[in-house]
Order: sequence, then structure tokens, then C-alpha cells
Amino acid sequence: MGDHSKRQATRDAIKRTVKAPVEETRELLRGDGELKPGLGMITSIIALSLGFLCLLAVLAFHFPQYLTTPDLRHKYSVDVLRQLLLVGLLVAGGMSLGNLILNRQRNLSIVAFLLVIAAVALGGSRVPVGNFADHTPYIGLDWFILDLLGSTLIFVVIEKLFPLYKGQTLFRKEWQTDLKHFAVNHFIVGLALLTVNFLLHHLFGWLVSSNFQQTVQHIAFVPQLLLCVLVADMAQYWTHRAYHEVPFLWRFHAVHHSVKTMDWLAGSRQHMLELIFTRVCVLAPLYILGFSEAAMNGYILIVGFQAVFNHANVHLPWGPLKYLLVTPDFHHWHHASDQEAIDRNYAAHYAFIDYLFGTAVKSKKNFPEHYGVVGDYMPDGFIRQQLFPFRNRSTPTEPPQQEPL
Ligand SMILES: [Zn+2]
Ligand SMILES: [Zn+2]
Repeated sequence: MGDHSKRQATRDAIKRTVKAPVEETRELLRGDGELKPGLGMITSIIALSLGFLCLLAVLAFHFPQYLTTPDLRHKYSVDVLRQLLLVGLLVAGGMSLGNLILNRQRNLSIVAFLLVIAAVALGGSRVPVGNFADHTPYIGLDWFILDLLGSTLIFVVIEKLFPLYKGQTLFRKEWQTDLKHFAVNHFIVGLALLTVNFLLHHLFGWLVSSNFQQTVQHIAFVPQLLLCVLVADMAQYWTHRAYHEVPFLWRFHAVHHSVKTMDWLAGSRQHMLELIFTRVCVLAPLYILGFSEAAMNGYILIVGFQAVFNHANVHLPWGPLKYLLVTPDFHHWHHASDQEAIDRNYAAHYAFIDYLFGTAVKSKKNFPEHYGVVGDYMPDGFIRQQLFPFRNRSTPTEPPQQEPL
């Protein structure tokens, strides 16, 4: 064998060794369905996901000015994040190495281990963070990593402990699309905040009265927070109802309704323009009324939790609370395509608002039979869904005729 053919043979061998793990990882990312325990699949997926997030985190340490969110990085401690990254690297490295030794999921474990090695080679948890400029354009990669880790830990546990649909798997159909929505919503957090603040100041700035705002800020914390949530939900109720009743707006909102499996990730599916428009409409009255920073922070925590929780695959015995607060049961009905659920249950925090305006679902059934848009016309895929409102004008994008209230 000549030198040339030897080199070719080595190249082919390397290609074959790398190709199989890459192919298998791609197949896994495209697939869905149940994970069978005991075959190293669960630990491989944890190692792969953690390895990938660790690599992203190392990049965020290298370029904090472009890859981290100013509002967040002023609040958290860099040392705690370093330790978190180290734990992530150890867990991902340990799990992938363990699987390699036990010869379980060899291909996936190779990819996971390579991700860990790449993260360590790029500096791991020791990347120095110096001073850097504060007013650079950025994407919220840190917010994506931390929220994905936190939400997965919290909501997967809640969904496993109190499932509404017991057989539902974590990797249900179209999870990839919703994870992309989740990621992009977090990446554009800076741009979204900037746009929302700009619109609030320019559209509603003239309505602000500092005397009135001081009166609002003097209300005690708990009633002020409850009032803040009420004002926000009233604004949310009418904005949401407009999305359902104005055909042009429905084209955007149909994206959120197209999800057919409800879980904690499902709520992320939302058109980008809806995200910005709704925030402007909901934050405008809060901004005009001038709630205190503490009340606003409390509201942001509540809305952050409920927006995810209300979509989760969870069922708890709520008792009479279900008439007062929006629960997953209540919001699941909003996503149903059953006839009695069309254009109902608009509230996001206080269920009594729908009872007050006569738009609460009245059904003899405990849970809906079908989810999604009537006619199932929404294409799958993040980009296709973002383009949907501007295309396919012939598709039935209006909500079905509702019965008189
Ligand atoms: Zn809706
Ligand atoms: Zn929803």
C-alpha cells in the first residue's frame, strides 16, 4: 500500500469513527418518543444536554459583553456560576465516561464526552472575566442556559409527580420546534426589552403623573402586588381576547394555539411579534400607574412561573381555588379545540375575570378531548410558524365562529 492510499485509509477510518456518533446524535435530535430506562439513554441525554450547555456557558464567560444579559449579570455572583459550571462539567463528563466504560450508548457518549473536552479546552470554569463595556448589543445566552436548567429541573419533577396525562413523554411530538421558540425568546430578551421600553415611553409617557404614582407606591406590598397582578391580567385579558376576535391578530396568536401536546415547554410557542405587542399592552398600565420596584419584581416572578406552569402536564386537586386562580386545568381548556372551549378562559392569573365577563368554559367533561387549532393548519417548524401570519392567506386563519355569550 502506497503512502497516499495509507493516508486515505486513515482518513476514512477517522471519518467512520466520527460519522457514526454524529449521525446518531442527529437522529436523536430529530426523533421523539419514550425513553427506555436501563439502556444508558437517559444518562446519555443528560450528559449530551449538559455538555452542550457547558460549552455555551464557557463561550458566555469568554464574551460576557455579547452573550450575557446586563440585568442578570448585575445580580448574580460569578463565583457561584463558575461552581455551577464545574458541577455541570463533572456530571456530564462522569456520565458519558461511565457509559463509555459500560459500553452503553457508545456513539452518544462519545459526542457528550467531546463536548465536555471542548468546554474544558476552552478554559472550562476558569475563564477569567475582566472589566468589559456595558452597553453592547447582546443575546441572552446566560438567561437561556439558566432558565432551561432551572425550568427543566423544577417542571420535569412536578410533571412526573402530578401528571395529568400519565403516559406523556418528555420528548413528545414537535418538542424541537418548541425548544427553538424557547431558545429564541431568551436570546432576544434584550431586543424585546429595548423595544417594549421604547414603545412604552413614546406611546404612554405623556400619561404618567408622578403624584398619582406616589400614591400607588404607598400602598402596602401585598395589596399592591395583588393589585398589580389584577391590572396586568385585565390588560392581558382584553389583549388576549382581541387576538381571538380580530382575524388579523388571530393569524399571529394561532401559533401559540397550534401546540397539540401540553407541557411546560408548550407555552414557549409564541409568535415574536405577539410576545412584544402583548408585553407593551400589559406593561403599559403598570408603567402608567407606577407600581413600586418590589411589586413589579413580584409580578415578574409570578408571570414567569404561571406562564410556564399553566401549560404544564399537571393536575392537582385545586378545590374552590380554581374559580379564583388560573390553574393548568383552566389554561388547558383555553388550548382545547373542543367546541365548548373555543374563545374561552382568557385570563392568565385570576380565573374569576373570565367568570366575571362570562367567558369561562362550562363543560361537563373534566378535561378537553383535543388540543390545537381547529383544522390543524399550522405548519411545524420555528421559521415556518414565524412566517405563517404573512403567508397562506387562503388558510382558515380566523377563529371558528363562537356561540353568543
Ligand atoms: Zn389564546
Ligand atoms: Zn397558552
